[in-house]
Amino acid sequence: MGTKNIVFIVVFIAAFGFLFYNFKRIISYLKVGEQENRFDHPGVRLKNVLKIALGQSKILRDPVAGSVHVMIFWGFLIFLFAVVEALIQGFYTPFTFEFLGPFYSLITLVQDIFSVLVILAVLYALFRRYIQHVPRLEHGKESRLDATIVLLLILCVVIAMLGENTAQIANNNFNLSKFEVRPLSAFLSHLFYNGPSAGAEFAFEFFWWMHILVVLSFMNFLPYSKHFHVFTSIPNVYFHKIGKNKFALKPLDLEDENAEQFGVADINDLTWKQILDGYTCTECGRCFDACPAAATGKDLSPREIIINIRKRTKEKAPLLAAGVEENEVYEKTLIHNYVKDNELWACTTCGACMQECPVTIEHVDAIVDMRRDLVLMESEFPNELNSVFKNLETNFTPWAFNSQDRANWAEGLNIKTMAEDSNGEYLFWVGCAGSFDARYQKVSKAFATLMQNAGVDFRILGTEEKCNGDTARRLGNEYLAQMMMQENIETLNNYGVKKIVTSCPHCFNSLQHEYPQFGGNFEVIHHSQLLNKLVDEGKIKLKDENLKSKVTYHDSCYLGRYNDIYNEPRAPIKKIKGIELVEMDRNKDKGFCCGAGGGRMFLEETEGTRINENRTKEALATNADIIASACPFCMTMLNDGVKSFDKSEEVEVKDIAEIILENSLIN
Ligand code: SF4
Ligand code: SF4
Repeated sequence: MGTKNIVFIVVFIAAFGFLFYNFKRIISYLKVGEQENRFDHPGVRLKNVLKIALGQSKILRDPVAGSVHVMIFWGFLIFLFAVVEALIQGFYTPFTFEFLGPFYSLITLVQDIFSVLVILAVLYALFRRYIQHVPRLEHGKESRLDATIVLLLILCVVIAMLGENTAQIANNNFNLSKFEVRPLSAFLSHLFYNGPSAGAEFAFEFFWWMHILVVLSFMNFLPYSKHFHVFTSIPNVYFHKIGKNKFALKPLDLEDENAEQFGVADINDLTWKQILDGYTCTECGRCFDACPAAATGKDLSPREIIINIRKRTKEKAPLLAAGVEENEVYEKTLIHNYVKDNELWACTTCGACMQECPVTIEHVDAIVDMRRDLVLMESEFPNELNSVFKNLETNFTPWAFNSQDRANWAEGLNIKTMAEDSNGEYLFWVGCAGSFDARYQKVSKAFATLMQNAGVDFRILGTEEKCNGDTARRLGNEYLAQMMMQENIETLNNYGVKKIVTSCPHCFNSLQHEYPQFGGNFEVIHHSQLLNKLVDEGKIKLKDENLKSKVTYHDSCYLGRYNDIYNEPRAPIKKIKGIELVEMDRNKDKGFCCGAGGGRMFLEETEGTRINENRTKEALATNADIIASACPFCMTMLNDGVKSFDKSEEVEVKDIAEIILENSLIN
């Protein structure tokens, strides 16, 4: 073993020792958080890692920046072979991966190709930051410096690797080993060297050490950088919420007599996964870019919330992990001192941030968890919510309507209630808006008429129905939400309800994904799904007139983004002769919220511009004469938007049930 090997071993032990120390330190911070089981369904989780982390599926939603990242990411993985090879050479100098045979040929060829691609990608990434000034990447000097250091280190790794290979080829008299395929390195070798020489020997040693030192410095810089995601993104993707109910909120155990805290006030109330989210944020700003609240000038940035979780963790977790009992740091909390109340109340829970985040961070859960603290522990919430909570408690609806009037909309329609006869195939869950809102009552009637004429056997609960609990739950009032959910479940189970159809995406989402948490297991479908089926089966017959109408459809977040229902509301409209369905620029999974979700329907919008006007403007730009929706909240927001632009004479907002009814032979 030569001096070089001994020096290398000392450097190697120091570098990995320091990295191990940092991993241990950060894992101890994660342990400060609450327990949560994210170890189930390993197969599904691995599939997600393959698709999202290795396949970079979310990153590629932004094709330009995504392609740059894919090149850097895959280049990184491919260069790992060169790194491992160089590290092993530190212990045993003649080592190569040559024994892998043809696979080695592939690795060496791809390394050469990717070295060019990665250099171009790094230069383009620097261009976007320093010349193009892409808004979502403009996030303070510290963040830019961090990104620049990492990009330059990546550049150094590639240069070192190329330099090492180029010098080695010259030292071997321009002969590559049997399975080595390095066209670029061979070309550069001929360009810079005349053959084996002391200069080439020196260059090899220089670039080899450069390669080793840059890689070891890089990996030890990461725990102190926003690029720690290089280590955490794969685990974070592995542990993210899985299944169809990925937007379902976790229930609080309100029966726990020992519980001293409900919701999240500080980092020790977060789960370990939520703390890991903080350590995984790359500050890429994709969530910020997609956020309707941020886009309309509200004081909310989903990115900032996650970064603040990390900042507060770095401040408080070391003390908690070390068992320190008193410190001035404890006088502050994550909530109020880092995340402001108005940020939390500005969120519509649209889920766009979670949809776009390339490392599957769960912003909405963190936001609602903090709202839970505000409502349940501190009674700190906007004034408007006093009446909402009161109405929910006494009238079982967020509005000041009498619960005994809930079924008035159905008078004269010959619709049976469950109390009268519980033998129907479907329970039509009408929802609060469908029951009380004068405009949406028309939708309930239209949908009921369509079902009756198509021969669907359905019932309603009438005055026994209560608000599904979604509004209270998203507003952080878990106590009220659970009360309503449990009471509804009791009613539904007493009647032996199996199938539910509803025209409200919020009811739909809640009944389908959150009621099972409390023992309510039903087959739930949205009215768009049933209508699409009935049209397909010919049970609803469409007119054969040539209308010449232009319709644009607005995706409800709770139907589209939360439940992947994009085509069913569109399909029957497309089948109506003479209707041209035109899309807004932001549509389907890139759709823009109406501004009403997460209880925002019941809150004043005083900051910035109005979200519904932003969306309506986009809808009006399509020159459609009908804006179609499939959600009562969206309908209200879009109607208000159309009024604010003084376009009510020219443009109508209609539910898909109304459009289908008007264009069916029933009408
Ligand atoms: S859920 Fe929607 S409104 Fe809330 S932070 Fe995310 S993108 Fe913004
Ligand atoms: S939370 Fe996700 S999308 Fe937002 S900045 Fe961080 S990594 Fe990017």
